[in-house]
Amino acid sequence: MTVTAALLMLCSIAAMEVVTAAGLTLAVPVHWLSLVSFIGLVLVYVLIRSGFSQRWDDPALTLFQISFSITCTAVAYTILGSARGIVLPILAVILFFGMFGLTPKQMLFVLIYGTTAFGVALAIVQWSPAFGGQALALSAAYMVMIIVVLASCTFLNLRVLAARKRKNELAQAVANERERSIRDELTGLYNRRFMLEMLHLEGIRARRNGHSLLTALLDLDHFKHINDNHGHDAGDRVLCSFAGTVVGCIRSSDTLARWGGEEFVLLMSNTTADDASLLLERVRAQVQASVVELASGVKARLTVSIGVAELQLQGETPIGLLQRADTALYAAKAQGRNRVAWAGDANAQLLTIRD
Ligand code: GH3
Ligand code: MG
Ligand code: MG
Repeated sequence: MTVTAALLMLCSIAAMEVVTAAGLTLAVPVHWLSLVSFIGLVLVYVLIRSGFSQRWDDPALTLFQISFSITCTAVAYTILGSARGIVLPILAVILFFGMFGLTPKQMLFVLIYGTTAFGVALAIVQWSPAFGGQALALSAAYMVMIIVVLASCTFLNLRVLAARKRKNELAQAVANERERSIRDELTGLYNRRFMLEMLHLEGIRARRNGHSLLTALLDLDHFKHINDNHGHDAGDRVLCSFAGTVVGCIRSSDTLARWGGEEFVLLMSNTTADDASLLLERVRAQVQASVVELASGVKARLTVSIGVAELQLQGETPIGLLQRADTALYAAKAQGRNRVAWAGDANAQLLTIRD
């Protein structure tokens, strides 16, 4: 953007110098204006490219560049004699360039500043013989067109900003909706739908890269007692507390979801069986150690049973993997609960209990 704006400025300087060479303007002031414009251009370029402008609120220096350019074009209008008509398209292009980077307040400032600067320039040309003078009707026509350009740009700026705001709101709403659609309302964990997506994706990734993929099913032991003895709200509270305990034990690369009711699925990719074993044992022990204070003041203690299976890279589907974890969970329950059970080979369906 800076380079394009610089090219625009260079073209304007070239145009001014051409009409000056043809003897149509006041030569000395035009050379000075060319020099000042060029210095301003280089200064802005250096400030932006060096990163120095990053410390300011508007690192692109949009407002400064526009105000500077408006000042230069207003001066150009004053000194260009019969060639002053060239400043109108230049002013329009300058505003088109900058207006999308301005806030409505800044655009309003540009509108007022531009009108004032050109009002002064027009008055000087109109009433000072040194600058050539001009028919009143011509000055009025110029003023009208300058105001039209400034006002249209302000209008476009407001329209673009409103559209941008609507787009951002829509993007935010879509992001919120997506987040809601993959979360479990009660615990805030991922939900079953998201876990199915993840199982599918991670299954493909594991197979492609030869990584391991482990899935654990976690089921609270005798959870129904909490509901039966203390009410459904107490049950909900226990579920949230359990979710928090497990989240506190796992790594950021693991994915935990509420599968339904008091069952949870933990996905561990690129993890060795030994690491997973340590982690799940930590989860089991942590759940056993934690006490949930219910609204009634009763302190509830719970345990969890965990079934875990590792994806077999030859053709096992994520659902097949989950089924083996479920079988292992069943075995953990049968073995007396509060333990981690590992699924054996998919074909043999052998189970090993590591307690
Ligand atoms: P086990 O040790 O064999 O797993 O026994 P359990 O009592 O935990 O298992 P069971 O499947 O018999 O009971 C699960 C209970 O979980 C039954 C159901 O009412 C309760 N439940 C399911 N979803 C929710 C929920 O969102 N909130 C509450 N409070 N309870 C729920
Ligand atoms: Mg249960
Ligand atoms: Mg259950």
